[in-house]
Amino acid sequence: MSEPYKLEWKGIIRSIQPRTRVWRYLTDNRTHYHIGYNIFLEGECEEGLNAFSVAISARQQQKGMFRIGDIVQGTAWTKKYPQREFADYYKAGEIRVIERNIQAMDSICPWTGCIPSMEVYEERGARMLSMSLWKGKCFKCYYAAMANVEIQWDFDRNIRKYRFESFCYGPKTCKKYKPGKFRAVPYKNRDSALDQGWLDEICTGNRGWDD
Ligand code: SF4
Repeated sequence: MSEPYKLEWKGIIRSIQPRTRVWRYLTDNRTHYHIGYNIFLEGECEEGLNAFSVAISARQQQKGMFRIGDIVQGTAWTKKYPQREFADYYKAGEIRVIERNIQAMDSICPWTGCIPSMEVYEERGARMLSMSLWKGKCFKCYYAAMANVEIQWDFDRNIRKYRFESFCYGPKTCKKYKPGKFRAVPYKNRDSALDQGWLDEICTGNRGWDD
C-alpha cells in the first residue's frame, strides 16, 4: 500500500451527504457517529479520477455553504486505510468555490437544498437504506449516507472488521425508501446476528412516522 500523499482536485458537486462512522456489536448495539460530510464530485484530480468523493469537516461545510451544482476546488490526501474510509480523499484544505450554483434545488429532490448540521443528523437517527437506492434515486438526497462501519468482532482482543453500509436519515414517509437486505453482523466463533431492522426503530425512536 502506498503512503498517503496530498493532491489537488476540482469539480462540480453532485451530492453532499453526512460522513458517519457506525460501530456495530452483534445486534446489541449500532451507534452512529457524525463526523463531517462527504462531497461527491465530477471533475478532475491528480490521480486521474473523473468522479470522486472528498471528506470535509462540519466547519468547512458551515463556512463554505456548499451545495449541489457548485464548482469547487481544493486539496486533500489519499487514504491511509482504504477499508475504513469510504471517501476517496480526506483531510481536505484550501477549498474554494469557483462558481456558485444559484438554481433552485427542489426540482431534483426535496432534500437537496440547505445541508443539515451534524446535530440534526444526530437527533434524527438513521434507518438502513438499500444500497441500490443509495447509488440511484437517493444519491443526491442529503439524508442519504454511506457509513464507515466498524464491527466489533472480538472484544477480548479488540479486533474489528470494516465495511461500508448505506443509511437514510429522511422522513419515514418518504416513498422512495426501501431498507434493502437484512445485514449480517459477524462475531468470532459463532453464527452472525442479523440486523433485520429493529435497530432502526431504536435509532429513530424519537421521531414519528411523518417526521
Ligand atoms: S429514502 Fe431517504 S435518502 Fe432516499 S430520498 Fe427518501 S429521505 Fe432521501
